[in-house]
Amino acid sequence: MKKIVVILTGGTISMYEDANSKSVKPHLSNPLLDKADEMEKMADIIFETPFNLPSPHITPKEMLQIKKIIDRYLEKGGVDGFVITHGTDTLEETAYFLNLTIETEVPIIITGAMRSSNEIGTDGFYNFLTSIRTAVHDQAKSKGVLVVLNDEIHTAKNVTKTHTSNLSTFQSPQYGPIGIVTKKEIVFHYHPKLESKLPIKELTKRVELVKAYAGMDASFFYYLSQMNIDGLVIEALGQGNLPPMCLPGVKALLDKKIPIVLVSRCFNGIVEDIYAYEGGGVQLKQMGIIFSNGLNGQKARIKLQIALEKTNDLKKIESWFHE
Ligand code: ASP
Repeated sequence: MKKIVVILTGGTISMYEDANSKSVKPHLSNPLLDKADEMEKMADIIFETPFNLPSPHITPKEMLQIKKIIDRYLEKGGVDGFVITHGTDTLEETAYFLNLTIETEVPIIITGAMRSSNEIGTDGFYNFLTSIRTAVHDQAKSKGVLVVLNDEIHTAKNVTKTHTSNLSTFQSPQYGPIGIVTKKEIVFHYHPKLESKLPIKELTKRVELVKAYAGMDASFFYYLSQMNIDGLVIEALGQGNLPPMCLPGVKALLDKKIPIVLVSRCFNGIVEDIYAYEGGGVQLKQMGIIFSNGLNGQKARIKLQIALEKTNDLKKIESWFHE
């Protein structure tokens, strides 16, 4: 039997619903552990429970903790796959962080649930089992970190949470899942294009994320330029444009040599220097802003944090954002 390391980190998949109040809360005993017998029919399982947190409580510290557990097993060898359970709110950020920082062909699957363990129609244990089935599948190798929920397999790079409560919340806009899980099979449709790995030991950089809107002015950017930040990601308008009133604040940040990465607040498409009016992409690019090619804001922020641990060379950073 294959050896799978299961890392339980918390989230709805590890929670219970209170029958009276209908509120959902963490519990001391993890409901997934009650089903250990069933899982052990599929693989030889080693459990790790580094913490039990709802995912809005996850910080870079916990992301690094998960990475260090995986690195430790990879160094020792003899492990065939990893399954991480995680709250769904920030699951895509942890998945993308691990995807960029861990170099291995061993499958790493991350999963969660939208309904807690005792709710009618709970998806937790089901998603957990399909993740183990995926982790032991030979074709799950060398595909980077994969997100498995609701019978679909997504890449860490493209997947995002799209619905507050629906079971089919995880989608990869523009690209779709790379595979599906059926009762009998795991079917991969394509092999994802992989980005450069950027292994790091610490995450110390402060990178902020702001969203542009009609009528936005420079105040927030001036405020950020007074703070001790190392980088900024802006979710710009459309193809990569900003209201002209923002520009003096953006310039104040660039004058302080704070790298700025531009993504779009549209969830499909990429940003480009197309528009030549004031605040348009042509001017933003000339000012020295780095254009990303399709990442959403929260993932571009993770990538810039990691990139700044490696280098301050803007050309190098820009090349990573074009992958
Ligand atoms: N708020 C929960 C969390 O992210 C949602 C979930 O797990 O689905 O921990």
